[in-house]
Amino acid sequence: MYNPIFEKEKFKREVTNNVKTLFRKTVDEATPQQLFQAVSYAVKEVIIDDWIATQKAYKEQDPKIVYYMSMEFLMGRALGNNLINMTAYKEVAEALDEMGIDLNAVENEEPDAALGNGGLGRLAACFLDSLATLGYAAYGCGIRYRYGMFKQKIEDGYQVETPDNWLKNGNPFELRRPEYAKEVRFGGNIRVEYDEEGKTHFVQEHYESVRAVPYDMPIVGYNNHMVNTLRIWDAEPIVDFQLDEFDRGDYHKAVEQENLAKNIVEVLYPNDNHYAGKELRLKQQYFFISASIQQALSKYKMTHDDIHKLPEKVTFQMNDTHPTVAVAELMRILLDEEGLGWNEAWEITTHTCAYTNHTIMAEALEKWPIDLFSRLLPRVYQIIQEIDRRFVEQIRSQYPGDEGKVKRMAILMDGQVKMAHLAIVAGYSVNGVAALHTEILKKQELRDFYEMMPSKFNNKTNGITQRRFLLHGNPLLADWVTEKLGTKDWATDLSLMSGLRKWADDEEALKEFMSIKYKNKERLAQYILEHNGIEIDPRSIFDVQVKRLHEYKRQLLNILHVMYLYNQIKEHPERSFYPRTFIFGAKASAGYIRAKQIIKLINSVADVVNNDRSINGKLKVVFIEDYRVSNAELLFAGADVSEQISTASKEASGTGNMKFMLNGAPTLGTMDGANVEIVQEVGIENAFIFGLSSDEVISFEQHGGYNPVDIYNSDHEIRRVVDQLVDGTYGYGNREMYRDLYNSLLNTKSSSRADMYFILKDFRAYAEAQEKVEAAYRDRDRWAKMALLNTASCGKFSSDRTIEEYVKDIWHLDKLTVEV
Ligand SMILES: *Cc1c(COP(=O)(O)O)cnc(C)c1O
Repeated sequence: MYNPIFEKEKFKREVTNNVKTLFRKTVDEATPQQLFQAVSYAVKEVIIDDWIATQKAYKEQDPKIVYYMSMEFLMGRALGNNLINMTAYKEVAEALDEMGIDLNAVENEEPDAALGNGGLGRLAACFLDSLATLGYAAYGCGIRYRYGMFKQKIEDGYQVETPDNWLKNGNPFELRRPEYAKEVRFGGNIRVEYDEEGKTHFVQEHYESVRAVPYDMPIVGYNNHMVNTLRIWDAEPIVDFQLDEFDRGDYHKAVEQENLAKNIVEVLYPNDNHYAGKELRLKQQYFFISASIQQALSKYKMTHDDIHKLPEKVTFQMNDTHPTVAVAELMRILLDEEGLGWNEAWEITTHTCAYTNHTIMAEALEKWPIDLFSRLLPRVYQIIQEIDRRFVEQIRSQYPGDEGKVKRMAILMDGQVKMAHLAIVAGYSVNGVAALHTEILKKQELRDFYEMMPSKFNNKTNGITQRRFLLHGNPLLADWVTEKLGTKDWATDLSLMSGLRKWADDEEALKEFMSIKYKNKERLAQYILEHNGIEIDPRSIFDVQVKRLHEYKRQLLNILHVMYLYNQIKEHPERSFYPRTFIFGAKASAGYIRAKQIIKLINSVADVVNNDRSINGKLKVVFIEDYRVSNAELLFAGADVSEQISTASKEASGTGNMKFMLNGAPTLGTMDGANVEIVQEVGIENAFIFGLSSDEVISFEQHGGYNPVDIYNSDHEIRRVVDQLVDGTYGYGNREMYRDLYNSLLNTKSSSRADMYFILKDFRAYAEAQEKVEAAYRDRDRWAKMALLNTASCGKFSSDRTIEEYVKDIWHLDKLTVEV
């Protein structure tokens, strides 16, 4: 029934014609990149009609709209995903095949849209996919960075960053929308004016401004003709747009504004879970927020005349504190441009903005210095002062005499603007991203706020889209699931996966399941051979840890354990040892020196271990260069073991854990983030859980940590591994190369605590859990059952479920139907 693209012959003609008009070539002469462009434009042609139909449905049905505000959208590639959601993938592959074109090769020509760092940005991308699929009206609002997440090269074992010029060949799916451009103002000062009626007006003068120009990317819903929009803003100089009378003819000003525009959207900050306090970053935040809110309000006002009813039609979801300036910007527009009084404006704002918290780690909390903030955003700062003044008054009346509360909760304190506090005070909802995380927020980090406004707090456990991470990333398993369930409805209702449980004792089904895993391991081995030049054995256990490099994620624990295994194999060559391949993939923020040392260590260990002929290839270590969404899809599909070993309490949710589970890889992990809920769903007997609990970690932290030296002294195998960091074993004879890592584990003299992330404390438990992995893997039937049960139990972790919860508890959206 639904087959927009297929008229196959028409599609083929379209591709041929695109090659001709775009490149003056025939299909045979076209380069792979040119074929990617030609195919993508042919696909966009089909998407456009549904995109128009969706806009028409917006107009006619006037649904409430969620604006998902995020500094990051880690979209990955669009072509294959669009085809999957149009349910046209196989047909297009076939059509192209008839033209002698390999769709897979074409897909590989597309650069990832890597406008994000990791989990937070990928969550935003999964949410957009689910919103469109479930029929909700939504805009993603973000920044069109000229350079996204850097490309990672590994040179001599070290990470080297190179710019990600993702737009160099143009982006076939985007649409520039100059007609929706907005002006965004920075700096200057505020002059107060009184009109005839004695009303106060705040006039910003001597400011610099840029022109925000939106680019729209289609977000194709699955099999429903819905196409939502990711609207990302580019900055252009305002000079040829409209120069304020005051500035006309000011050449220097014009040049400054040109530079401001250039700089503002130049690059994504590559920090994950870390606040750097850079002025340009604050400019980026206000830039896209101001443009997005202006845009949302003008759209609302086109068809509604009562601004007081804004909360009935609009909700702004703030993805972490990065977009929190939205609450003050909305207040500014309501007060200064709509002419509302404070109470009216506050009533609207506090029913329109909602906040998602993503971390409890102190180093990630955004606290802008007041001098910087007030200089850059003078009017917004005045408004925050007033919000703070009223809030502090409220604290004092509710908790008389408790100045400790004021100090802990105020928005403005110690010369800083605390963005999380602003978001909580002005937002009508505060949500954590996994059950454990939300509990920690309520009991520890945000306890004062929870006590004062308990009804705002709620949990929304993260999820992932099965369209990208199973249908697209693992077509063999997707087909098998469809066959076994007798329906493909799992693509939009992942709870149906539980129907696979009945195959968990069926020998034939288990064999099929494992043979698919084997083929995916071969596919991954091929990728590794091509990219790393390392030959790995698909019969070995593929143990995978892919995620941003962060001390709390404990890649160091993993690689220390590899060093330990290597010692074991060397010392006990007589023992039987099941062959293992440890696969890592991780980018470190460019300025995060210790994270980069860990990457170097992993590569050094890989060098030593992979080239030691004496161990007969029993152990291999691979570092995947440039981990990103496109190669992630291969990694999840080809993994046997999912490493989720963060220090308990530190990983708010994790979503990589869910992608592995979906693809049939049991979790080896701590009771942290969403791992807790994964274990609840699959059963603890189908996971490998170890280590300190979050309560234990928090308790140690409240008592100044623990003493790792005791462990070092009492466990000679651990001592040996730690010593190998500084005895030249992995430093090519250089004993200083990993001295800092060694010190981080043992040295209590340094300013921070020794072994802050409890690596040595959890080491033994981890090694024992790894032994259980090996034992379980040796039992082929047991392993197959475990793996299958993971796939069968992943239903909860679809972002469709997460979005339905946001809709029910926070957004209250209407479902839309698109007619074509
Ligand atoms: C899912 C995903 C992440 C998040 O992984 P975690 O293990 O949850 O930190 C990061 N990067 C990419 C490319 C992803 O696909």
